[in-house]
Amino acid sequence: MASLSIKLSTISPVVRISIGLISLLMGWVMLLDMLVGFWPDNSQMELELREKTSENLSIQSALYVQNGDFDGLKKVLEDAVEHDEQILSAAVRHKSGHIVLQVGDHERFWKPIDSKNSTIDFARLEITANSDPWGELEIAFKPSTPKSILGWLSKPAVVSFLLLCIGGFVLYMFYLRGVFSYLNPSNVIPDRVRVAFDAFSEGVMMLDNTGRIMIANKMFRSWSDEKDKDADLFGKFARDIPWISNSMGADQKNYPWSKAMEVQQSVNGWPLKITLPSGDSIKVNINCSVIQDEGSVRGCLVTFDDVTELDKINAELSQTMGKLQKSQAEIEQKNDELYRLATRDPMTGAFNRRAFFEDAGKILEEHRISKRPLCAIMSDIDHFKKFNDVHGHAVGDLVIIAFAKALGVPLRTKDMLCRYGGEEFVVFLPDATPEVAMKIAERLRQEVEQRAGPSIRHTVPLNITSSFGVAQLEDDVVDLTMLIDRADQGLYVAKKSGRNRVKFYGEPIEANAPPEEPRDLH
Ligand code: GH3
Ligand code: MG
Ligand code: MG
Repeated sequence: MASLSIKLSTISPVVRISIGLISLLMGWVMLLDMLVGFWPDNSQMELELREKTSENLSIQSALYVQNGDFDGLKKVLEDAVEHDEQILSAAVRHKSGHIVLQVGDHERFWKPIDSKNSTIDFARLEITANSDPWGELEIAFKPSTPKSILGWLSKPAVVSFLLLCIGGFVLYMFYLRGVFSYLNPSNVIPDRVRVAFDAFSEGVMMLDNTGRIMIANKMFRSWSDEKDKDADLFGKFARDIPWISNSMGADQKNYPWSKAMEVQQSVNGWPLKITLPSGDSIKVNINCSVIQDEGSVRGCLVTFDDVTELDKINAELSQTMGKLQKSQAEIEQKNDELYRLATRDPMTGAFNRRAFFEDAGKILEEHRISKRPLCAIMSDIDHFKKFNDVHGHAVGDLVIIAFAKALGVPLRTKDMLCRYGGEEFVVFLPDATPEVAMKIAERLRQEVEQRAGPSIRHTVPLNITSSFGVAQLEDDVVDLTMLIDRADQGLYVAKKSGRNRVKFYGEPIEANAPPEEPRDLH
């Protein structure tokens, strides 16, 4: 029952009203027919015709029986069954009960309910011979009450009744559709509702399910053309309003209210930039609420929320935010530069002593507590004074830069390179065992020897080598200074052993060390 009521509710009002009207009309026609026989009925005529046919045949039958001419009687009855399409079969039954003759499939058709009297479909007529009852003539007629729908449809009264129903329904429907399209439902909207609608600061329009405007409020109308301002927008398709179609295009499928009605779900905050007929541009957020009636879409309430001012403020705000972010980035960059200046050696980019001691000191303490390996390498350019003396200080500086670069290249991110003194550098290696530290120092030595000199463009090729001392964090190393000092002692041994080599703290000076002769630097 519930599903039936839902189904009925999905039928359009025009169809529903048409069905109602035609039902009333047909009810009235039937009542009139009952009261005054209004409807033409030929069943009475049919009955009279059957009576007459039966009487004729019974008179003829009596004559033939009296003459004993049963062949003649059979012919007469055959003639009747053949030519009268109402007669299905006929038989002559002797009063003793047995059938003397029959025409048609009488046994099949002859099934009278009343065994004595005639009915409209079964006629039984007495045959008298010489004034004595002789027997009966039985005639089976076609059933007067149709047994199938097709049978009923062959009845003119039923056909004309149905034609009246269908024709009337179609005419009513077309008429009502025409009436509805001219009828202005907005006229029946109470004034207080209009006033309430007009009070909204948003533009509001109510659409029917085809997208036609049922009512539009004051703000909405104020956006329309001068000539449309006070004109009733009723009945216009929303898509036909120029400032809407100009902003959204002609394809109605793209309109938020069409989408909302299609998926039967509200659409909220649909942003749109509208150019009004006045030339002004406004930004709106469109909200669409679908109006439903027991499951079927009846229309849509559309609001246009003017967010132009808000948008302007937002734009200004984001502009200010952009500027703020830019100056913040500049400040951060400056801070980075300041930090770099404060922590790095400007010539080589390596950590300066102060920053190095601050960071590496903490790391050393962490390693001591967690008993993780840690090593430091002290490195110094061999015979550096000669570069200054022979090629000048500027070249000396280039040598220091090339040296620092060669030291920095193979290091890991957690390693630290510090310019410890003029041309002395410390390489700090957290989590490096002495074996690893020695390997790294040897790599650094090779790197300096192979690349530092060739990387400097000078009139003559420069031959740069350096010496390395390595020390590890041990239990008796109390602080970073002590660790570096041990690495420096290793460096001293490397220098004394002939330079351009790596020595671990505690290693002795090589026995066959060459004499302290300055090498050829180029
Ligand atoms: P060794 O092999 O024993 O180390 O010999 P060396 O000549 O390198 O001797 P040392 O390490 O004592 O030389 C340090 C020199 O480095 C002294 C100083 O004039 C020079 N020096 C220090 N800082 C700079 C600098 O920033 N630029 C230049 N060009 N020279 C510097
Ligand atoms: Mg030196
Ligand atoms: Mg030195």
